[in-house]
Amino acid sequence: NDEVQKQKEKATEEVRRLADLLFRYNRAYYIEGKPEVSDTEYDRLFLRLQELEEQWPELKREDSPTLRVGSDLSSDFPEVEHRVPVLSLDKAYSVEELLGWMGRTSGREASGLSFVVEEKIDGVSIVLYYRGGILERAVTRGNGYVGNDVTDNVRTIGSVPLRLTEAVDIAVRGEIYLPKASFESLNRKMGNLYVNPRNLAAGTLRRVKSREVAEVPLTIFVYEGFFSDGPKSHLEILEYLQSLGFRTNRRVGIFTNRTDLADFSRRHPDWQSGTWDELEGYVRTSTEERGSLDYEIDGLVVKINELDVRDRLGYTGHHPRWAIAYKFESPTGTSIIKSIDIQV
Ligand code: NAD
Repeated sequence: NDEVQKQKEKATEEVRRLADLLFRYNRAYYIEGKPEVSDTEYDRLFLRLQELEEQWPELKREDSPTLRVGSDLSSDFPEVEHRVPVLSLDKAYSVEELLGWMGRTSGREASGLSFVVEEKIDGVSIVLYYRGGILERAVTRGNGYVGNDVTDNVRTIGSVPLRLTEAVDIAVRGEIYLPKASFESLNRKMGNLYVNPRNLAAGTLRRVKSREVAEVPLTIFVYEGFFSDGPKSHLEILEYLQSLGFRTNRRVGIFTNRTDLADFSRRHPDWQSGTWDELEGYVRTSTEERGSLDYEIDGLVVKINELDVRDRLGYTGHHPRWAIAYKFESPTGTSIIKSIDIQV
């Protein structure tokens, strides 16, 4: 009928406008390193587009920004295909939403689940490929399937091991970042060219001259590894990564109703552990403590610990189903998002 037709026309126009805006903001953020809007505003538009696409599936474009990872591919560096796609993360914007996700995810699994909570480092995503224990390639996330080879630049970062303690063939993921204090002093010298440490880190990694990269004190936290056999859980991955010589973040929480994890707490007294009920308190405390860290985080990442469960849950084209990012700043609730019509 007429009313539905009118609504659909309005939605078509809004979908087009939102997609155009998100493409433009992606370019500014990932390619030019100069975001035009805040992350909160970006997420608000993204959620609104997702909502419209759910309501009107026929309006979902094949190249919709909701279907893919924002691309930071640059023509200055060779392109390399990733062995495992590097995707985005699903998001929760409140502790309640996060707990809801945990409940739904664990509800599908009979027993024996545990959740690992890590800080979501606000840096630049990188994949490091090692062959025979030697760093062979460092590749940016790119569009998730193809990234840029920035090996020469990454080799200048002291905390990236060039040789591991074992001659293994592995791919690991991490976040390259610039500590806050280094950012402040460097940016001042550069005439406050960059809006935050992430932008400076991203700009530095794209320098064509590696000598200039070496002058910036970038560092790394490695948080994921892919092994054909060996570790059975995320905690075992983290332990193994440490033993290979990688720098991992010690601020990790493990929450479980399993009893066999007490051993981990003994081996890693610096890792927080507790029951599921204690996770909420940990999330709230970590949120409060974020300002006292010497690096920026924009949220926490909650991941299922058991790798066999991860395999069962798998991936959508956009994110793994076994992890979620709890973002600190919440875009205003979806009902308010309707006012975007007028704002954009
Ligand atoms: P994401 O927020 O979906 O998070 C995924 C990334 O988190 C990973 O690729 C990884 O690099 C990083 N990460 C950090 N610590 C991690 C850990 N411990 N475990 C796992 N991953 C970890 O990232 P995205 O897809 O790059 O970006 C989407 C977000 O970027 C949006 O939600 C928005 O906030 C922001 N964005 C902002 C603008 C803007 O104009 N302001 C534009 C585009 C995107």
